[in-house]
Amino acid sequence: MARFIFITGGVVSSLGKGLASAALGALLQARGYTVRLRKLDPYLNVDPGTMSPFEHGEVFVTDDGAETDLDLGHYERFTGVAARATDSISSGRVYSNVLEKERRGDYLGKTIQVIPHVTNEIKDFIRIGEDEVDFMLCEIGGTVGDIEGLPFFEAIRQFSQEKPRGECLFMHLTLLPYIKASGELKTKPTQHSVKELRSIGLAPDILVCRSEGPIPVKEREKLALFCNVRPDSVIAAQDLKSIYEAPLAYHREGLDQAVLDAFGIQPAPKPTLDRWEDVVDRIHNTDGEVRVAIVGKYTQLEDAYKSIAEALTHGGMANRVKVRIEWIDAEVFETEDAAPHLERLHAILVPGGFGERGTEGKIKAAQFARERKIPYLGICLGMQMAVIEAARNMADMDDAASEEFSDGVDPKSFTPVVYHLKEWVQGNAKITRTKTDDKGGTMRLGAYDAVLTEGSRVADAYGDTAIEERHRHRYEVDIRYREQLEKEGLLFSGLSPDGRLPEIVEVKDHPWYIGVQFHPELKSKPFDPHPLFADFIRAAKEQSRLV
Ligand code: GLN
Repeated sequence: MARFIFITGGVVSSLGKGLASAALGALLQARGYTVRLRKLDPYLNVDPGTMSPFEHGEVFVTDDGAETDLDLGHYERFTGVAARATDSISSGRVYSNVLEKERRGDYLGKTIQVIPHVTNEIKDFIRIGEDEVDFMLCEIGGTVGDIEGLPFFEAIRQFSQEKPRGECLFMHLTLLPYIKASGELKTKPTQHSVKELRSIGLAPDILVCRSEGPIPVKEREKLALFCNVRPDSVIAAQDLKSIYEAPLAYHREGLDQAVLDAFGIQPAPKPTLDRWEDVVDRIHNTDGEVRVAIVGKYTQLEDAYKSIAEALTHGGMANRVKVRIEWIDAEVFETEDAAPHLERLHAILVPGGFGERGTEGKIKAAQFARERKIPYLGICLGMQMAVIEAARNMADMDDAASEEFSDGVDPKSFTPVVYHLKEWVQGNAKITRTKTDDKGGTMRLGAYDAVLTEGSRVADAYGDTAIEERHRHRYEVDIRYREQLEKEGLLFSGLSPDGRLPEIVEVKDHPWYIGVQFHPELKSKPFDPHPLFADFIRAAKEQSRLV
């Protein structure tokens, strides 16, 4: 049976609750325990799949095909535990389950209410797989006091009452603002936030306080006294240079020890922290810097490409170089020449995306990388744009385009080298779609196998010819153009096992030019950088010696 740790936030949002949860998960692993992390989000969307990246940052996809919150990416990157669809739930999902049951008559004529029906649904979700791990960490999205969060807070309160004493722990993350004029760290907002929690029946066992500097003893004691926690359970979370310093920093502050103490685990197993010491060493001891362009459309909000930015950092760690990302809005290339923006850079990455805006700019970036022999990694839409570019400029198919941008366009007016996929195979099952399907959850989603051509650059990078990667897309490169494009030097070096879907393309006479239909960034870890990102940054490092 698992012990449960509930992580809540107060004072303001964006304090790094997901990161604190992930780092605690990593520290419990370092003590020899198994963990699983979960996110409970109060918003009403059924999942973040339909939310704009501007609203909610990137959508993180699990192996089993769920579109989830980007915090699940942090969880995976810190613990290496592959998240599942059942690790992410929102109010939207909870209510839609409850309403479905109501329509089916499962409640036998009862009046359906937030307590107990909605809270029961939440508790059932928290319990899924509780026998599988030592610790289940559940992060509640938002901050205490949010109206829509109330059913979740109520559910975890009930949950802890139903469990034997000592099996649940509450950790609350707050902010200690620093007032320059008086030179003081202020504890009052934290006191209020804990008061708010206590008014709904929750008492934190551990307080994690974000602050710019260390917390003086006086403030620590004050917090302990007024918030009713032990002084050694007031944990300082200072700003860090790299998020990957978090596990060691929290360990130094005594977070894992405080958690084990609160559960009464004695003696606490000793931690093995080599993994994180090596990670931090690789971040700080680098030899040079590579500059990588991300040419995308959500470049004002870096969270929209969270996993890609992290995977690039991991690639840098594999090669002991610092990776500096230059965020470039693809639309710039629709009016301006690419050269002044891109020629001093050591590598170009075109990420995934939806919709037509910016795509001609991405095609220009792909062309520039190909012609100037700059390392190029195209991910999902970035691969599709590379194929359109190759079709237009290598194979003289001037009207090559994607069906994604063809609404209201005469189908005979362009060559659909990228088309809307309506039928495919997953394992032994056949999946079908139509153009008018709902937008939510209807893409080719989750893990799929691919077979790589022996001797190809990509097989070389992976050191293998059988891979499994995560997908999230509706459109697909048309295999029927394979022969024509390969003749011109665009190799289809990875295919779905049935040979029908192009998974990877690469340019033959180029130092490093790869497009992948899947999202390799989702599986990269700081202690296990993804082979494609490691090799991409290796190529960028070589390029940096040339320019
Ligand atoms: N819009 C493209 C598709 O649906 C690419 C998706 C993506 O980049 N994730 O196929």
